[in-house]
Amino acid sequence: MDNTTGRLPFILVSPTAGISAELSAGIGESVGDFFGYPVKVLSLLQNIDFAFNSDRDQYHSTLILEKLATLAPKRCVKILAITDKDLFIPILTHVYGEAQLNGIACIVSTHRLNADFQLSKKKIFDRIVKESIHELGHTFNLRHCRDHSCIMHYCRSLDDVDLKSTQYCRYCEVLLADAMV
Ligand SMILES: [Zn+2]
Ligand SMILES: [Zn+2]
Repeated sequence: MDNTTGRLPFILVSPTAGISAELSAGIGESVGDFFGYPVKVLSLLQNIDFAFNSDRDQYHSTLILEKLATLAPKRCVKILAITDKDLFIPILTHVYGEAQLNGIACIVSTHRLNADFQLSKKKIFDRIVKESIHELGHTFNLRHCRDHSCIMHYCRSLDDVDLKSTQYCRYCEVLLADAMV
């Protein structure tokens, strides 16, 4: 996305098939501003059918993360994949996203975040940004936070997602700063 950044480390936004260039660029801009990294948009994995589970009619996000981690280009510090497919991990009915704790890869699904179509595009975009910053937080070794307004709070419902802010609480902010040194 930004060729002027040359050899600096960067965050890679990796859309799967079905995610628009507009959304990828918007998410990239938001997470880049937030974490202070240059961002590149490049699809490492268009097709995630290998992670499809026909019994559940969903995609197993852990398998996608493992695959993405093997595809990281040089100087890529984190990979944020975006998909419109419904994701799960075996112990949960669904997830909005998943991350490798203190690892390189995370993924966010728009599938349930845009389920209520009467909502404005802006509100849905805000949800996707919040979940993206949340999952990237896990890759910087942050765990779930009890503070309901903190972006690292675990959300069971879309109401929870809408309620939380786009910021880390002071405690998580310190942990993030330590992890980014
Ligand atoms: Zn989480
Ligand atoms: Zn927090």
